[in-house]
Amino acid sequence: MEKPQYGRVVLKISGEALAGNQGFGLEHNMLVTVARQIAEIRALGVEVCVVVGGGNLWRGIAGSAQGMDRATADYMGMLATVMNALALQDALEKAGSDTRVLSAIEMRQVAEPYIRRRAIRHMEKGRIVIFAAGTGNPYFSTDTTAALRAAEIEAEVILMAKKVDGVYDSDPVKNPQAKKFNSLSYLEVLSKGLGVMDSTATSLCMDNNIPVIVFDLTKDGNIKRVVLGESIGTYVGRDNE
Ligand code: UDP
Repeated sequence: MEKPQYGRVVLKISGEALAGNQGFGLEHNMLVTVARQIAEIRALGVEVCVVVGGGNLWRGIAGSAQGMDRATADYMGMLATVMNALALQDALEKAGSDTRVLSAIEMRQVAEPYIRRRAIRHMEKGRIVIFAAGTGNPYFSTDTTAALRAAEIEAEVILMAKKVDGVYDSDPVKNPQAKKFNSLSYLEVLSKGLGVMDSTATSLCMDNNIPVIVFDLTKDGNIKRVVLGESIGTYVGRDNE
C-alpha cells in the first residue's frame, strides 16, 4: 500500500480555487473533484481537516475599500466561508465521506461550534473536519486560520492548495519569465514579500515550525501526490533545503 508522508494534515483551499474557471461563486465540478481527492487521502489513513476560504464570494478588504466598516466587511467574509464549507461538506458526503463542519462563529443550526478537542476527536474517528468562519475575528485571513488550526491540532503540515503550481518570484500569469521556487524559508517569504500567504500566517507557521507546501489543486491527483511526498510544488519551512 502507498505510504503517506504525513499522519495529520491541514488542507487550505482558497475560495478562488472552488470557483474553478468561473472566477466567482462555486463550480460544481471543482467541488466534486476536490471532494474525491480529499476522500482519496483519507482512504490512505491520513487525518484530514480542511480550512476553506471565502474570496470567491466576498473579501473584507474589498468591502472596506468601498467605504464599509472593515470589521463588518470581514464578518461578511467569514460568513462566505461558511457557505463554502457547507458546499464542500455536501460534496464530500456525496463522495461517501463522513464529515463535520466546525464554525468559529456559533450557528448551531448549520454547524458545530469550533472546539479544539472535538475537532481532534472527529479526526481520530476518521471524519473529515471542515473549519468554517475563519478564526472568528476580523482583520485575519483564512491562511492565518490554517496556521492557527494546524498549531492547535498539531498537524504536521499545511497543504496550501492554489490555482498555480507553486511560489514564483513574480506573477507567472503576467510574466512568462517568472521563476518558480522549489523551496523557501519563512524569512525569505517575508523578506521577499512573496504572495504565498499573508505575513501573520507566515509568522505563525515560523514560530511554530509548521511546514507549508504550496501546490496546484487544479491538477487531478495532486493532493495525493503531495501527501505521498512527491515534490510537486514549493516547500516553505525553517530551512531553505
Ligand atoms: N476573514 C476574517 N477573519 C478570519 C478569516 C477570514 O475576517 O479569520 C474574512 C476576511 O474578510 C477575508 C474573508 O473572510 O477577506 C475571506 O477569507 P480569505 O480572503 O482568507 O479567503 P481566500 O482568499 O482563501 O478565498
